[in-house]
Amino acid sequence: MKTAIITGISGQDGAYLARLLLSKDFRVIGVIRQNKSIPIIGLDFLGISKNVELKEINLLDGIAVENLIKEYQPDEFYNLAAQSSVGLSFKSPVATFEFNTISTINILEAIKNHSLTTKFYQASSSEMFGNIGEENLPLKESVLFHPASPYGISKASAHWITVNYREAYGVKACCGILFNHESCLRGENFVIKKIIRTGLEIKEGKSEKLKLGELSVQRDWGYAPKFVEAMWLMLQQDNSNDYLICSGNVISLREITEIVFKKLELDFDKYVEIEASLMRNVELDIIYGDNSKAKNELGWNYDISSNQLIEKLIKDEKEFLEWKKK
Ligand code: NAP
Repeated sequence: MKTAIITGISGQDGAYLARLLLSKDFRVIGVIRQNKSIPIIGLDFLGISKNVELKEINLLDGIAVENLIKEYQPDEFYNLAAQSSVGLSFKSPVATFEFNTISTINILEAIKNHSLTTKFYQASSSEMFGNIGEENLPLKESVLFHPASPYGISKASAHWITVNYREAYGVKACCGILFNHESCLRGENFVIKKIIRTGLEIKEGKSEKLKLGELSVQRDWGYAPKFVEAMWLMLQQDNSNDYLICSGNVISLREITEIVFKKLELDFDKYVEIEASLMRNVELDIIYGDNSKAKNELGWNYDISSNQLIEKLIKDEKEFLEWKKK
């Protein structure tokens, strides 16, 4: 039986990845913060809490991370833990930068020194590209980063540290440069989740308005359960490499909100309000990617349109809310 360690198991991707790895007969060790309250809702919702072994580790503590690697000598290590909100990173730049970079170096150091056969996955982000010119679209792995938030900068640093350990020490490390991907397990502060959740609440008379920031931004949004498949595929290759993982579709936030409200039979003009305080300091206008490298080299298949994605997300959110009531 192979062993995989996942940091950030309590997050959206951690839960879906754990389910995928369990289905492939892995022993899954999930790293959680110290004093983290369990149960973990994502694992519970997917019905896999009993199958994952949880380990409390402070990933900023190099010795603790070293001991983790020595103890398990994992076949695969997925580093998903991060302060993952762009908005919050403007409010807490130091904590975001510190955690997102130092935790990654600690893990890479431990793997380099104690378990060179471990395959390592780093959760990089499309936010590393920043406000690049439209001439670079669709984005490819080769486009130069110009991050436009403390989050993007922290992820770019962790990305290059990972590449460095691969090139300098032969660590079998891959970076998945993932574009926005959504599910009912997405954090409450993320915009698609907020739109769908608030829309459902308005339907039930539990909310009056949906307040949003800039609606003209155009993004490449995908479906999280499909994106974690790409993470696993990256670590099954003979050669370690970096891959851009995205849907390849581009749609504005306004269009998404209009589609959600139409599907919920709600009047967009009546319920949606723009609030200046929700605008970001630096907002990327448009960003979408080219997933052909991942499709061709990994055999990753993604064929969900934006409309299908929204339908799935509304359906999943309803199921999730029903489950939470029980
Ligand atoms: P998420 O739901 O926000 O989960 C983040 C995870 O990191 C949680 O388990 C969280 O633990 C953990 N974490 C955060 N700060 C921590 C700290 N100081 N100490 C220990 N653990 C900490 O994120 P996600 O959507 O699953 O994304 C997974 C990874 O992919 C992240 O690195 C994210 O930046 C990256 N990414 C995500 C997207 C996306 O669209 N979802 C796109 C590109 C890249 P707690 O539950 O204890 O807070």
